[in-house]
Amino acid sequence: MAIKYKRVLIKLSGEAIAGEDKFGVNDEMTLKVAGQIKEIVDNGVEVSIVVGGGNFFRGRNGGNIDRATADYMGMLATVMNALALQDSLLSIGCDAKTLTAIEMRDLAEGYSRRKALDYLQDGKVVIFGGGIGSPFFSTDTAAALRAAEIDAEVILLAKNIDAVYSDDPKINPHAVRYRELSFMDILEKDLKVMDLTAATLCRDNKINIYVFALSGDGNLMKVINGENVGTLIH
Ligand code: UDP
Repeated sequence: MAIKYKRVLIKLSGEAIAGEDKFGVNDEMTLKVAGQIKEIVDNGVEVSIVVGGGNFFRGRNGGNIDRATADYMGMLATVMNALALQDSLLSIGCDAKTLTAIEMRDLAEGYSRRKALDYLQDGKVVIFGGGIGSPFFSTDTAAALRAAEIDAEVILLAKNIDAVYSDDPKINPHAVRYRELSFMDILEKDLKVMDLTAATLCRDNKINIYVFALSGDGNLMKVINGENVGTLIH
């Protein structure tokens, strides 16, 4: 089967790293995710990843902590996930480099677009830690921004649901499963795919999004092969 995408950006939420634990890093889950990523790398796809941090901390959960401070804590959480994923990839023989938006040079290299492109061309997985490095943004926005910077063909938005639906299919049995949607559909139907800032950035820069679930075995490879396992937003 022909490979549909050559350079992708995968957006993983913190939950993808936590698995059933809901909090922190689940080793087994992280290894499974790493295995799926290695499979597409071995098929010649250039892979970059933006990880969320919701399994540790989200800015809006800050309580009496100032919003900006809480957001910085959320960004630190994404770096923890990036490091966990990096080591899981390395442990299965898949070379990976974490680049952080905030300087943490003892842990990882600082982000630069040139470096990211060089590593991708070398066949290394590039993991972007720390979102975009600024509070009041989300890792969805970081995914949109980095995808535009590195000229990724698509953002593969891994969710715990297998596609975009008109309503929650667990609650509404008549919910419609969409195979394709436009950005206008997303905005008009108010479908909660990603936040507005991120969606607008994707629309303005003509970056397609593919929503799918990582949970199915080999699902990532199926997306790369152009199989219909999720929803394409264009
Ligand atoms: N965050 C931020 N700026 C960024 C990216 C992330 O301030 O560029 C903070 C924000 O507080 C967010 C948290 O980091 O809530 C964790 O990211 P996110 O909620 O997107 O993680 P996910 O829900 O994907 O696990």
